[in-house]
Amino acid sequence: MSKFSNYNFNNQKALIRVDFNVPLNDQFEITDDTRMKAAVPTIKKILGDGGMVILMSHFGRPKDGPEDKYSLKHLIDHLSELLGGTGVFFAKDCIGEQAYLTAGMMRPGELLLLENLRFHKEEEKGDIKFAEKLSKLADVWVNDAFGTAHRAHASTAVIAQFFPAEKRMFGLLMESEVASAEKVLHKAEKPFVAIIGGAKVSDKILIIENLLERATDIIIGGGMAYTFMKAEGGAIGGSLCEEDRLQTALEILKKAEEKGVCIHLPSDSVIADKFAADAQTSVAPSNNIPGGWMGLDIGANACEQFCNVIRHSKTILWNGPMGVFEMHNFQHGTKCIAKAVADATSKGAFSLVGGGDSVAAVNQFGFADKVSYVSTGGGALLEFFEGKLLPGIAAVQS
Ligand code: AMP
Repeated sequence: MSKFSNYNFNNQKALIRVDFNVPLNDQFEITDDTRMKAAVPTIKKILGDGGMVILMSHFGRPKDGPEDKYSLKHLIDHLSELLGGTGVFFAKDCIGEQAYLTAGMMRPGELLLLENLRFHKEEEKGDIKFAEKLSKLADVWVNDAFGTAHRAHASTAVIAQFFPAEKRMFGLLMESEVASAEKVLHKAEKPFVAIIGGAKVSDKILIIENLLERATDIIIGGGMAYTFMKAEGGAIGGSLCEEDRLQTALEILKKAEEKGVCIHLPSDSVIADKFAADAQTSVAPSNNIPGGWMGLDIGANACEQFCNVIRHSKTILWNGPMGVFEMHNFQHGTKCIAKAVADATSKGAFSLVGGGDSVAAVNQFGFADKVSYVSTGGGALLEFFEGKLLPGIAAVQS
């Protein structure tokens, strides 16, 4: 692979796999353009070098071929705006005559957006012929879609074989995502704390098991903490619990003890008499929640307990909220943790926040620019920390 920033794209046609899977409202207006903005530095570098940019992405989940609501044409105007008024050519199909003709006529400094890759079933199937057709559009393949790096699709991985090693590379976004994730997974300065929250233990077992090999401390908050509490014989009332994971929870606690990893469970919880914003609330020890009540956030003592660990850490990984932060009454714990992560970062710790809901939380509470790195990859980041080799990374590196 080549290093993107060292590569001179002058007169080269670069096919960039981006993740433009942005949310649209009923009027086809973009409601969050984070993913588009994240690709801008990569696009600008290529155009600035005198190269040509061809963008390809998936968009939504079309079932059976082209559907107007999943057309990337809805993104053209905003893309042009983000690039300071650069003209955007659009091909109504990502392969086929029009795409080849338009790509063939491009001049340095020009940009072409291809229609949604998933209008062809072959994309998700990782079809080799489809990948080859895409590869014919350009000289260089740039993978800048970390959000889909865990998928072995035609445009994210299979296409790599049609470019020689020096003509395939990560874009700037992918480069920084991979560098941050590798820093935490392989080069973490100790003490290293992993903060794992969210709803389900079952979604996070593999990541916890892998982190047991690397972290100094693991903080477990959110709904998943109650499965651990119950496994240890606690009373959790009507709190979230995965009965079929009680044994797994005990095994994790045992393994942690063997490996000398400190697992921190919330000492107290904010409890509610129903799962609703207007519920009555109280506070109880997390292992002694009365019947008819449920834990929906970590309590003040747990906040203090967790913040203390975070304050003394040099590397911090955070995935998943501490409570039902979408409801005002149950967001205090997640806010406290966000602030503690930001404070530790200001004192020199490296902090990586990733996974949909924790990213939403740091954005909502205004801490996004106070942590070291906010990842754009949800599933991809989780799989990376589960220890899996991501096809989108392997394809570029191999
Ligand atoms: P996940 O996608 O697994 O990271 O879970 C995120 C979701 O977990 C958010 O929607 C939270 O509202 C939810 N959550 C966090 N804590 C709790 C809790 N104590 N009880 C129920 N749901 C929770």
